[in-house]
Amino acid sequence: MKLFTPGHGFFMDSLIMYGLVSSLPSHVEYYVSGNAGLFEIEIESRDVHDVANFLASYIERHKESIIDLLVGRLKLIQKGSQKRLESYLSNYSNSGVFAKDLEKTYMSPGHAQKEGRRQKGQHVWLPLYPHIGKYFTGEYKYSPSNYGVCPLCIALATIGFYRGTIKIPYNPPKNASLVVLLSFEGEVSGKEFTNILSHLESEAFDQNIKKLRLIMDKIPLNTFIYVLLANLAKEAILYLYESKAAWTSLSTTFNIVKGQVAQIRGYEEIFIDKYLSSLVYLTQIDEKYKINSLKKLQIVTENLIKSGEPAAIEALYRFMNTRSPSDLYMTIRQITKATGVVGRSFCEELAWLTQLA
Ligand SMILES: [Zn+2]
Repeated sequence: MKLFTPGHGFFMDSLIMYGLVSSLPSHVEYYVSGNAGLFEIEIESRDVHDVANFLASYIERHKESIIDLLVGRLKLIQKGSQKRLESYLSNYSNSGVFAKDLEKTYMSPGHAQKEGRRQKGQHVWLPLYPHIGKYFTGEYKYSPSNYGVCPLCIALATIGFYRGTIKIPYNPPKNASLVVLLSFEGEVSGKEFTNILSHLESEAFDQNIKKLRLIMDKIPLNTFIYVLLANLAKEAILYLYESKAAWTSLSTTFNIVKGQVAQIRGYEEIFIDKYLSSLVYLTQIDEKYKINSLKKLQIVTENLIKSGEPAAIEALYRFMNTRSPSDLYMTIRQITKATGVVGRSFCEELAWLTQLA
């Protein structure tokens, strides 16, 4: 059977796609293809009732945690909306209701045509649709008219938010959180998805994130995303790189004002494929020569942060993206100025990256 995401834009459709697939048990075979921000999910030898059963039981098991995350811990949905979120999730803990609505809405493409701006329905909540006008002060400014969606879109997007995003609260006194979502164009199999998700949810990655929280407001957001990705396990970087998909990082900073009102402070979409290939190349050098380049990248980054050299960090990660000789030149100058021996030998290894296409 096939399911189609509705067409509520790259961010929300990615959340809904994560919501659909991350509720499926690992023995279910499926493929996801993404094209222009829309996703098609092909599930082998199951019908809509099987899939609704999986999704409903997932919600039943996780609804308390989903509400606690969005309303309690991150404060991205206001307390006043908690009852409605609870009722949507409880409603879809019933697999019969789920199957009926899934059949009506997601079994063919284009469901979003019946929803959206100036349409009836639940006004979409901010963390699920961060470009909505009245919250967003940046370049994607829309008028603040109602953007109505159905409870199924909301329920699936909240599961996707809960399961598929990397959530990093800033250190106090700053009351804000960074949310990062890895999405793609192309094809990803269920097996690859399970592997990638298990790395994103691993204890090791969580520990790395705790360390990175100390530096997150010292460097620009896009540079921070690159540093974050370099802290994924080697295997996770390989899974992303070897999938038949081109990956994009969608990231948003949510600022909490007056205790419980979320506002957007920056939304960025960054293509990360070329950068991932640089990381993969560094891991390959590691395996061949045992020189641990990826570890050195982390050490050099930490040293640059400690010694307060944001310009050097930016130059380094810009080069990892462009691999251009002139960016390399800038990076080497900045790094040798700021770090010791580790930095110098690491620069020689970096120079190999210019040999890649
Ligand atoms: Zn809908």
